[in-house]
Amino acid sequence: MGTAKAVHPMDLTGKVAIITGGNRGIGLGMAKGLAAAGCDVALWGRDPERNRQAIEHCAGLRGSVAAYACDVVDDQSVGHALQSTLSRFGRVDGVFANAGIGGGGRTPFLEQTDEDWRQILEVNLLGVRRVLAPVLARMVQKGEGGRVVITSSAAARLGTAYNEHYAATKAGLIAITRALAVEFGRHGITANAILPGYVQTEMIGDLLENQKFLDRVRPRLPLRRLGTPDELAGVAIYLMSEMSSYHTGDVITIDGGFSIS
Ligand code: NAP
Repeated sequence: MGTAKAVHPMDLTGKVAIITGGNRGIGLGMAKGLAAAGCDVALWGRDPERNRQAIEHCAGLRGSVAAYACDVVDDQSVGHALQSTLSRFGRVDGVFANAGIGGGGRTPFLEQTDEDWRQILEVNLLGVRRVLAPVLARMVQKGEGGRVVITSSAAARLGTAYNEHYAATKAGLIAITRALAVEFGRHGITANAILPGYVQTEMIGDLLENQKFLDRVRPRLPLRRLGTPDELAGVAIYLMSEMSSYHTGDVITIDGGFSIS
């Protein structure tokens, strides 16, 4: 009698994930983790040079990683990226709606303009809808279930002065996640949001150079340091794996304990 070959429960071999904003920062951290676990990954981002560099960063990992030009403010661009992903990998098991822009965090509420708000709503909220709609349509049509993971932010819950527009989009994403979990659960599709705290990426580059900010924030962090993009890999692997098959509609905070201190 042969011995059954043990498959690690977080082995993602044969699965395919899309990550928007996957060419750097948190998206790339998640992509590297998924590919290390065997997942094939399609990175979607605007900048071709960044896309190329991201593929290099993922070289040698178990899963195949491809990158496609995609601007989430443009329906056609999203359509092309999905087509290219399907031509290359043939399927989509999970989608990480992670692309986002910051609010700058410097302009007082009374000086923010409609245009400031429109710009951020366009990428952080409508951009997520533009990506999720065609991917969910395909998942439903295929009938094999799927995973939706949305990158929100601790800003959705904390009072982030000078960043009301950014916070509003990130809080909106939590509402969208919960609604999707209910609407698509019957199709075997789960939807969860990730709430990162301070993670060292270009988005918060200004803050990382601001000693006053670092002196104020570090003592408030139970882990006494900011997070790195690679520290978002674990939750990404878990949410793509069979281990999370009954986990939906949740908001998972990865913030070094900042929000509870
Ligand atoms: P980042 O390093 O600035 O990366 C942003 C990513 O989004 C890039 O890959 C960028 O690629 C992509 N992107 C931006 N606009 C896009 C568009 N219109 N179409 C397609 N892709 C676009 O920022 P990050 O910190 O990794 O942020 C990733 C997510 O985490 C965001 O949703 C952010 O709000 C959230 N977050 C970050 C932190 C933090 O402390 N860093 C905390 C909480 C939440 P291209 O420029 O090439 O398009």
